[in-house]
This record gives sequence, structure tokens and C-alpha cells, in this order.
Amino acid sequence: MRKQIAAANWKMNLTLQQGEQLLEDIISLPHQLNENQEAVFAVPAPYLMMAQQKLRGKEYLSVAAQNCYSKKSGAYTGEISVDMLSSIGVYYVVLGHSERREYFNESNSFLADKINICLLNNITPIFCCGEPLEIREAGTQNEYVAKQLQESLYHLNADQLLKIVIAYEPIWAIGTGKTASSAQAQEMHAAIRKQLESKYGKETAECISILYGGSVKGSNAAEIFVQPDVDGGLVGGASLVAEEFVAIMNALKK
Ligand code: PEP
Repeated sequence: MRKQIAAANWKMNLTLQQGEQLLEDIISLPHQLNENQEAVFAVPAPYLMMAQQKLRGKEYLSVAAQNCYSKKSGAYTGEISVDMLSSIGVYYVVLGHSERREYFNESNSFLADKINICLLNNITPIFCCGEPLEIREAGTQNEYVAKQLQESLYHLNADQLLKIVIAYEPIWAIGTGKTASSAQAQEMHAAIRKQLESKYGKETAECISILYGGSVKGSNAAEIFVQPDVDGGLVGGASLVAEEFVAIMNALKK
């Protein structure tokens, strides 16, 4: 069975003290993750080590960076390298979030470079894709997402692809309170898996975790996660509230 993942994306929110408190609250609330499930916390870069310390020894709870750069090291003021992440024991990074694509002009080919350096350094990218509202309204969302996957991932071989987690996040559902229906989520997740199958074969496609993101909350997580091709969620707003995020963790498929 594919790994089921609840990924928290704190974005540029919370002070260090608030972040510490949030993690403590989450740890103290009853949650039941098993060896096939994981909760991943994508915290702001200055809090990565704090989060690592708080989650050390806690089963099935991991830390992720929200971004990294495509170069190994050098004169890139303000950027974070994969070596920096692995030197503090962080092995997940969110890449290609729609906010980074929109505000920082991250293109599919730039993201391909970031994917490459992550894989070379054993860091698992949580690769985000998803269409804006006008594309959904035009009904061309499958083609749009297919192009994102082709241009950022299709240079990989099957073994490399198996190290990637995909997060489908329709942009019109991010931070808007407007969730894709569970049928819409399933439809796109199945389309992504079919597309991966046509390039990499069924066996590989069946092993890739595809998370849904876009206004997931404690109250709607279960109906979305129960869909056969949905393997958990990438969660923004609701990940900042301990009870909400724990409810989302507990809604992962068993
Ligand atoms: C996100 O930022 O990845 C996200 C899905 O945000 P929200 O849950 O707030 O819609």
C-alpha cells in the first residue's frame, strides 16, 4: 500500500514560540499513525532545527523544508541548499508550491533542477502541481497538470520517480475555503496516476503517493482521503490549529 501522508505547510506564519507550542500541542493530542502513515511538518526555515528537536524520537512525525535551491553551494545569498538540510537531518522539501510559482516565478524547468539536486542528496521532494481557476473553468486542467509533470519530472527514471511525493493542489482551492469535491479530487488524482502509468508503467504509478491540497480541514479530510487515488493531504490554514491538524492526521487511510 502507498504511504499515506498528512503534510502541514505553515508557510510564513507563527513566531518560534508559537511554532513550538503548536508542535507540543499536536504531540500531546491523541493520534494513531501506523508504519504506513506519516505526518510531515513544513515549517519556516528558521524553525527547522527546533522542529527536528521537538519531533526527535516521535514515531511517524517528520520535518520538511518549504523550499531549497537548485545549486549545491556558493554565492546565492538567502538561499538554502540540500546539504544544509541533510546536515540537520531534514529529508523532505516542498517544491513548486503555487505561491512560489506565482510570487517567485518558479518555472517547471527550474523545478526540474531542484528535483534533481534533491534526489542526488536523498531528499524527498513533495512536488506540487495544480491549475488556476481559469484553466478549471476552461476544462483543460488535465492537460495543464500533465504539462507540469512532464516538464518537471519526466526526465527521471522510474527508480527516481519512486522517491517523489506529488501534491495536487488546485490553486482555486488554496486558502479560499473552497475545497475540490472528493469526486473532483479523485478524478484528477486518477488522471495523474494514469499519466504516470503511461510513462513509467502501472507498477511504478501505483506506488506514488499523491496528496490533495486545498482547504482541507478536520471536517472534510476523511471524505477526501477515502478516495482510492488520494493518499493524504498538504494542508495550509488548518495545519496551524493543533486539533484540526490532528483530526486530519487521524483521517488518513489505515
Ligand atoms: C497549501 O498552502 O498548500 C494549502 C493547501 O493551503 P490551504 O490548506 O490553506 O488551502
